[in-house]
Order: sequence, then C-alpha cells, then structure tokens
Amino acid sequence: MIENYSLKEHTTLKIGGISKIVYFPKSVEEIYAIKNNSCAEKLTVIGEGSNLLVSSQGVEEKVLITKNMKKHEFIGEETIKTECGLKSANLAKILLEKSLTGLEFLIGIPGSVGGAVTMNSSAHGQAIEDVIEAVEVIDLNTCEIKTLNKEDLKLCYRNSFVEKNRHLILTATFKLKKANPKDIMEKMEFHLNYRKQNHPSLTESNAGSTFRNPERKVHAGRLFEELGAKNWREGAAKVSEKHANFLINTGDATSLDISRLMYRMHSGVKEKFGYDLIAEIRYVGVPTTEEEEIWKNFTVH
Ligand SMILES: Cc1cc2nc3c(=O)[nH]c(=O)nc-3n(C[C@H](O)[C@H](O)[C@H](O)COP(=O)(O)OP(=O)(O)OC[C@H]3O[C@@H](n4cnc5c(N)ncnc54)[C@H](O)[C@@H]3O)c2cc1C
Repeated sequence: MIENYSLKEHTTLKIGGISKIVYFPKSVEEIYAIKNNSCAEKLTVIGEGSNLLVSSQGVEEKVLITKNMKKHEFIGEETIKTECGLKSANLAKILLEKSLTGLEFLIGIPGSVGGAVTMNSSAHGQAIEDVIEAVEVIDLNTCEIKTLNKEDLKLCYRNSFVEKNRHLILTATFKLKKANPKDIMEKMEFHLNYRKQNHPSLTESNAGSTFRNPERKVHAGRLFEELGAKNWREGAAKVSEKHANFLINTGDATSLDISRLMYRMHSGVKEKFGYDLIAEIRYVGVPTTEEEEIWKNFTVH
C-alpha cells in the first residue's frame, strides 16, 4: 500500500491528482485480504489507466491498481487463464508463442486484461466477446467471490455487467484456436501499422477514443473532423491532428481542460448532426463543480 500517490503517472493521458491510499496487490490472495479490510468502502479499480480521465483534484476512494497481477497458465492446448493485470499486448505475445489466434488486436492496445474484458475491447473484427470463456470476480458490493461465464458478462460495445455492477475481475479465461504463426504475425503487423498511420502514438499522451461511434458506419472522429474540431484547444489539452476523436495532453493539461474540450465537441456534434454521443473514456475521482456539470451532459455507459 502506498499513501498519497500521484495517479498522473499511472494514466496514459498523464492527468490525475493524489489518491490517499493505493494498493498494488501481487496476487489474488492479496486482493482477498484488501477486500476483507475495505470492501464495505468504495474501491476504485485501475488497470493500465488507458481509458481513464482521472480528476486533477484526486480520488477520494481507496484505489487498487492491478499492474502486478500478471501471472498466466495454459489449460490444455487452446485455453489460457490470466490474472487481470497482465498487459493486453503481453497476452497477445504469449499467444503468438503458442500459435493461438483470436486476440491479435490486443498487440496495439495499451491496457490490461481486466480493462479489456470490462470494456469489451475490440478492433478490426476481433473482440474480447469472441474468445472469453469466464472470469473470476469479486462483487465489490457484497464481497462475494464468484465465477461469471460469457453470458453472465453481458458484453456489448465498450460495456459489460462487470462495470455496471461494480465487480472486480481477478482472472479471465480465454479459448483460442491454433493457427499458423506467420498468419498471426501478419495480423499483428496489420494492427500495429494501422495504428501508426491513423492514431497518435503514446508519445502524445492520450486515452484512445474519447466518444463511442454513434452507429456502426458513423465514426465519431469523422463527425469531429467535419465540425472542424482538429486542433481545438482548452488550456494544455487539444484535439489530435491525426484523429479527431483522440484528445492530447500537450504538457500540464488538467481534467477540466479535457472535460471542457469534450463538452465543446459533444455539443457541437449534437447541434450539427443530432447525435448525443456517449463517452468512451471513464471519469474517475473528485470532479470540480464545472466538471460535474459538464459530465452530466454525457451518457457514459
Ligand atoms: C492509444 C490508445 C488506443 C486505444 N485503442 C483501443 C482500441 O482499438 N479498442 C479498444 O477497445 N480500446 C482502445 N483503447 C482504450 C483502452 O486501451 C482499452 O479500453 C483498455 O482495454 C483499457 O484497459 P485498462 O487496463 O487501461 O483499463 P483502465 O483504463 O485502467 O480502466 C478502464 C475501466 O475498466 C475498469 N477496470 C480495469 N481493470 C479492471 C478489473 N480488473 N476489474 C474490473 N474493472 C476493471 C476500470 O475501473 C475502468 O472502469 C485505446 C487506448 C489508447 C490510449
């Protein structure tokens, strides 16, 4: 446990204030212990912080960061069980070594397994929901530990039962298929090249797509582009020149800068195109009064 820990370094946006108490458990057993001590209190769970806007005013609740929970084991030839904090890209590499296909897209996603399952991560025709078998969770409301199968998870576009119902994913089990390693490598290269060409890299601090696409063939990024939002700025936050659904922290941006930009983008699209966009990134922590007002305009789930 670390006291007065700055969450800034633990988000890909490089924004976030202090949390008074942060746990970095190394095993499921350690999580059980934390749960026994503090389950009744609220607990904020963070994986790699790649889909988060953490308040610059900090987080009141205790925070649990899963990055040290990264063990995995194979069950038979085609099934893998991993702890929640394993990096998504590392899972993709482990599967490549065993010639298993199904999660190549994770090679380009800077999150953890727990975050990927919670958000039902996907890209270019592959998605967590296609290969997930089950997860072990702690229900943070009741402290009960249980197994949820694929149907219980109710995975849909960037959403799941887990997030809506405050469950902490401990482990996830995936069923893959054997394939030619050359084909797996090619798919991974496709994902990495596509990102290199179309998305800002993490040398420009960002949290991926800010809003969900409103329809399958209507991309939020394209709507922002048509709105002329590229390069819009609020304080030290700006809309990426490369992809207008990505927001960049150019230095010392605050969560309020990002929230203000999101508000301009959201209301601009609503006025011009009539879409009430749903936020893809999650706000965590203590909002300022202005942030609270802004976030009331966004549906999150
Ligand atoms: C450059 C870039 C590109 C991206 N591209 C994509 C993409 O193509 N497709 C895509 O789907 N996403 C993409 N993302 C978004 C993000 O990487 C994914 O959603 C990722 O899976 C989130 O994982 P995380 O560990 O960082 O989660 P966090 O950001 O830490 O958390 C996200 C949510 O998951 C919850 N959570 C995390 N771990 C657990 C757990 N163990 N148990 C319960 N809840 C948990 C958190 O409480 C929070 O609500 C991108 C992000 C970036 C920065």
